[in-house]
Amino acid sequence: MSKANLIEIFSSIQGEGKYLGCRQIFVRLAECNLNCAYCDTNFARADFCKIETAAGSMIFKEERNPFDSAQVAEAIKNFCDRVPIQAVSFTGGEPLLHWQFIGEVAGAIKDFGVKIFLETNGTLYKEFEKISDEIDIVSMDIKLPSIIGRNLFNVHEKFLQVAKAKDLYVKIVVADNTTEEEFLSAADLIAGVDEEILLVVQPVTPVNGICAASADKILSFQAAALRKLKDVRIIPQTHKFINLF
Ligand code: SF4
Repeated sequence: MSKANLIEIFSSIQGEGKYLGCRQIFVRLAECNLNCAYCDTNFARADFCKIETAAGSMIFKEERNPFDSAQVAEAIKNFCDRVPIQAVSFTGGEPLLHWQFIGEVAGAIKDFGVKIFLETNGTLYKEFEKISDEIDIVSMDIKLPSIIGRNLFNVHEKFLQVAKAKDLYVKIVVADNTTEEEFLSAADLIAGVDEEILLVVQPVTPVNGICAASADKILSFQAAALRKLKDVRIIPQTHKFINLF
């Protein structure tokens, strides 16, 4: 049985993307392979993981890392016993750095009647392939060069090719320095794989000196992307409006 360092396990609503507002359990795994300018997540390895004591209580206890899959399955069961849950979301950091662990937890909770949701930066396609049978929903980011400082479109395309068989949507965070050229290149990349893939344009939540894009810029990006893709939606992060995690 593999082990992983976790940051937190808690119950909340999905605050982004296609399944906005759905009640989910979040399993946040430590570490990431990228360093995005707008990152607002603490994903550094820690000695302890924070676990919400009861679904929706927002009261946490700390337990020592690392965790094995049976411990996480038990924590998920405790939440599911109290609140009907739509999905268990594996998030990070980059959760696919722990692909084997995710596969084991997903296998252990198969009978719970919840979907397995993966929030990923869309770069580790080989790792995703190894556990794709266990995953129901994929929220995949495309990281634009202005955010990450390099072009990752090659690996994003490979990820799209293996994830398109799933309930997949793509999220692109747009800030004031996002260029139309890079955004439309990303839209072309998605359309080249399948024009039916939902694209969520997520206006950046200002952080670390990253500034919000204007409303007219976001609307014009959506209009241009809709000439390439069937479904393009503008959805900001919403959980922060009501002070949820
Ligand atoms: S991929 Fe996600 S967790 Fe990793 S640095 Fe970027 S925003 Fe942060």
